[in-house]
Amino acid sequence: MKITKILTDILRIPEDDPLADMPEEAGRFRPVVTLRIQTDTGIEGIGLTFYGGPMTGTLRSAVDELGALIVGDDPLRIEAIVRKLRVAAGDNCGPGGIFMLALSAIDLALWDIKGKALEQPLWKLLGGTRDRVPTYASGSLRRGLTDAQAATAARRLLDKGFLEMKTQMALPGNPSPAEEVRRVRVVRDAIGPDIKLMCDINQRWRPEQAIDIGKRAEDVGLSWLEDVTVCDDYQGLARVNAALSTPIAGGEYVWGIVPFRHMIEARSVDIVMIDLVRVGGITQWMKVAGMAEAFNLPVVSHVIPEFHLHLIAAVPNGLTVEYMPWMLKLFQETPPIVKGELVLPTTPGFGLKFDEAAVKSFRA
Ligand SMILES: [Mg+2]
Repeated sequence: MKITKILTDILRIPEDDPLADMPEEAGRFRPVVTLRIQTDTGIEGIGLTFYGGPMTGTLRSAVDELGALIVGDDPLRIEAIVRKLRVAAGDNCGPGGIFMLALSAIDLALWDIKGKALEQPLWKLLGGTRDRVPTYASGSLRRGLTDAQAATAARRLLDKGFLEMKTQMALPGNPSPAEEVRRVRVVRDAIGPDIKLMCDINQRWRPEQAIDIGKRAEDVGLSWLEDVTVCDDYQGLARVNAALSTPIAGGEYVWGIVPFRHMIEARSVDIVMIDLVRVGGITQWMKVAGMAEAFNLPVVSHVIPEFHLHLIAAVPNGLTVEYMPWMLKLFQETPPIVKGELVLPTTPGFGLKFDEAAVKSFRA
């Protein structure tokens, strides 16, 4: 099999809140670069990448330029292609940033081709530990909402059948520790004690602040506190992790596989969060999951549940899938949630097809 053509697009997807209908800022768009890799067998693989922000045009160019280097290559030899692209481009301009984001889109599309060529869904091809995976609602219980809005949004998520959900602390205006904890209790009170509740800090606290507020919040029963301080302060994170009984999660902001080694060796986190786009695609995601398993740590995903559910279902230490519905409207059909769990597709590859009408309407 040979790669014959690389097709990219830039799409602008509305930033709304389809899970709880609690929009933060109307009229905003999230840019995404989509990719189709075509082959001489007629099999086409799809991928995407994002986080380019105002550099999304540059990101698309990077995907096009890397893609041009692999036309004629065998798409099933993914490690060979990754190595070739790293040597050609990544070793000098990388390893993080635009190169890695572009590489990830290509890696995703190659795995989609492999799944389709072998007529297997990716979760099975990659290990197939489970055919259903827990998922949690994300993006609705944001720090900018009023108490009443947060409680309403939380109840809407319950009505939709979610058994797990995530909120945020590090509230606007840097309020007192007591105010931070009061707010997270508003959400806990709205959903009751049996629903799993996670809380994201998005790197906004100092380690000592995280220890102080984290201790005050221990009895809220949080499943994890996420990114409590800057992502590569491995020692600071380890200090927070050692001080709290609430599990600490982190990893979504780092690039490639090597930072995970440092994070895990330092015991910075109890739960390893892997972002498919920043880590370098499926090839690298699976390596981090294996590294975490060797350290007796579970892994969780970051955004794009329609791709990530395959990975969390594949590995034995996959914990739950973040249901952040940023890109779902790009696809004809996405995996359903039944009794709080995502049901894995049985169709080959990712089991995703672009909704051509949606693609057309989002084209920049
Ligand atoms: Mg996060």
